[in-house]
Amino acid sequence: MDRRTFLVGVVSVSAGSARAQEAPRWPSPVIDMHFHMRRTPALNIAHQQGASITAANLLTRNDAAAAVAALQAQNAKMFPCWFGATDVSKPDAEQLLTQAVKSGAKGFGELKYPVAADGPEMRRVYDLAAELNVPVLIHFQEVGQPAAPGGYNTGIKRFGAILKAYPKTKFIGHADAFWANISADYHEQEAYPTGPIVPGGISDKLLSDYPNLFADTSANSANNALSRDPAFTRDFLKRHQDKLHFGSDCNCEDGKGGGAAQNSDRVAPRMRGKCVARETLTLLAGATTPAVFRKIAWTNAHRLVG
Ligand SMILES: [Zn+2]
Ligand SMILES: [Zn+2]
Repeated sequence: MDRRTFLVGVVSVSAGSARAQEAPRWPSPVIDMHFHMRRTPALNIAHQQGASITAANLLTRNDAAAAVAALQAQNAKMFPCWFGATDVSKPDAEQLLTQAVKSGAKGFGELKYPVAADGPEMRRVYDLAAELNVPVLIHFQEVGQPAAPGGYNTGIKRFGAILKAYPKTKFIGHADAFWANISADYHEQEAYPTGPIVPGGISDKLLSDYPNLFADTSANSANNALSRDPAFTRDFLKRHQDKLHFGSDCNCEDGKGGGAAQNSDRVAPRMRGKCVARETLTLLAGATTPAVFRKIAWTNAHRLVG
């Protein structure tokens, strides 16, 4: 099926289906800053259309410049920018990341490798990011999960020292250790803690104290954290309205929660069969003013990547 046939198919399906399948309307245009690039142009486009998302930042690995260029040539407005990533423990990591930026990447990420966040591998990346003036998107994980055993960029509780040591590097926090640590009582007991937030958590403090730390609202981790305590969430989004930007990290195929990946037991039960983008945009729309929603869903990302 060529792309035109596919698009006509998508339009007629959404026009003729039940209300649950209707395209949602958001208070402002939306850019999904945490969208892992998919195998085909059709799959990349389907998620955007299904969840009514205006644009996406493509997260890629290794040498993706040609595939990104092909997708951008078809859909310049829908896919305006991309990030590059590679295994930071390999000797050619700096060369590959530099090449990605020379080919047009606007950031490094997502960086999800089993190293310490303040170890030598990531320190090389932070230096390079400052030199090339691109942000670094970091997956912070301490607790192993079915889909991702072990830890990645461990040691978030020590991360203030890194933010201080690399003032010219722009960091984007993401994943379960980042979001679980918005509560001061978190001790790595589980990936997705529940219940009311205890104010004074590490990630909340780091966002307040360091102008070079940002965060995306992607994945079950952010959705779970921002669902725990509505009063805290409203205040948190208001206080950090200039530091947060929307991302989905969604695995669904159609922007409606469909497809095998989002319905598998590798997905957190509370998000299974749902579109993370829709869920988190609904949450943000309900917990912010339209002006703050616009910052988080649209303008902050533009300021971060230019
Ligand atoms: Zn991640
Ligand atoms: Zn989705």
